[in-house]
Amino acid sequence: MKLILLGPPGAGKGTQCKRIVDKYSMAHLSSGDILRAERKANSELGQKAQSYMDSGALVPDELIIDMMIGAIKKAPAGYVLDGFPRTIAQGEGLDAALEKAGEKIDGIVNLQVPDEPIMARMTGRRSCPVCGAVYHIENLKPKVDGQCDKGCGELVQRKDDMPEVVSCRLKTYHEQTAAVIGYYQRNDNNIIDIDANQDIDRVTADIFSKLDALNG
Ligand code: ADP
Ligand code: AMP
Repeated sequence: MKLILLGPPGAGKGTQCKRIVDKYSMAHLSSGDILRAERKANSELGQKAQSYMDSGALVPDELIIDMMIGAIKKAPAGYVLDGFPRTIAQGEGLDAALEKAGEKIDGIVNLQVPDEPIMARMTGRRSCPVCGAVYHIENLKPKVDGQCDKGCGELVQRKDDMPEVVSCRLKTYHEQTAAVIGYYQRNDNNIIDIDANQDIDRVTADIFSKLDALNG
């Protein structure tokens, strides 16, 4: 299967993608994770992306489109895109590359959450800098406070999960990313709306029931 997961920052895209790829054996292509790895490696792309990410702005489309098309080419058997596309231009770039390769997206999972719970979800998020696992101080606690369950060590709070940056990221979402859903609706895609304002396991169950039907 080839899927896109859409939703505001903090909707639960990363959390649900990890569960989807475990069940359906696909690659998890997260633009945010790829950018953070580029930054860790201090690559040219990582350096270019840094200031945008730290302020809650979007990294320029041309950098992101090339990066994600490159990642998609390495996952021919199936993937779920997490955090991409985030602008209509990125959606158009993706569509052009898919058309050229004779491929298509099977479904677009749209995680719907109002703004109110987002601040608490993002400021309470704790991430493992080694394996990328994501926890929450209330909603998804690690077994030992502050430690990754997989034995990697200390969990960290992402700089862009501080309240001031979260506000900017939500603004960026409404100004630039929310319109991507309309882009896909206009282009007759298979959009699967999911109520993501429920507890994590309930959201997973709803996604799995829709994907089981899609997977046939
Ligand atoms: P995204 O990838 O969309 O930015 P994440 O999957 O990283 O979002 O989730 C953001 C934070 O919210 C994490 O700390 C996660 O544990 C928590 N979270 C995810 N889904 C839910 C949910 N349905 N209810 C409550 N908290 C959630
Ligand atoms: P995420 O991990 O998805 O929350 O993304 C973290 C940050 O990386 C965002 O706030 C952006 O600065 C940047 N980013 C991730 N994906 C994209 C994208 N598709 N387009 C532009 N910037 C992105």
